[in-house]
Amino acid sequence: MKVAVVSSCLLGEFCRYDGKTKEDNRVKEFLKDYKVIPFCPEAPLFGIPRERIDIIQGRVITSQTKKDVTKLIEEWTKKFIQTLPKKVDIIILKSKSPSCGLSSTPIWNENKEKVLRYGDGIAAGVFKQYFKDVLMVDENSLNT
Ligand code: SF4
Repeated sequence: MKVAVVSSCLLGEFCRYDGKTKEDNRVKEFLKDYKVIPFCPEAPLFGIPRERIDIIQGRVITSQTKKDVTKLIEEWTKKFIQTLPKKVDIIILKSKSPSCGLSSTPIWNENKEKVLRYGDGIAAGVFKQYFKDVLMVDENSLNT
């Protein structure tokens, strides 16, 4: 059976910072013949609900307490990747997220007044290092 790693909030888990989900029925329908492995670094690291996080000049910073949590997310994602089967067929990640976004996450300037560019979330960046040959999409670019 084909294997998909998928952002948990797209699957209907209530794991977003505000305790909500981003369930996506199109993604779920696409996955009906896949073995699905859910992925969410933020909920186990920071709990639900939790502070928002943002990418400020390439670092992930908590919005109120201003902690740099970049390394935590990177390390958690690397450990998660070690638990995956050898063959992964597709990775589907949530757009715009500071962790999961693929080329769609706002990268802010120092005071969060201006978006400098749109890039990858921190976990998505780690996935790209490890899965160079695996199809990686977000829910908006998934061709069903
Ligand atoms: S976007 Fe990623 S980190 Fe955020 S709730 Fe969804 S799965 Fe978790």
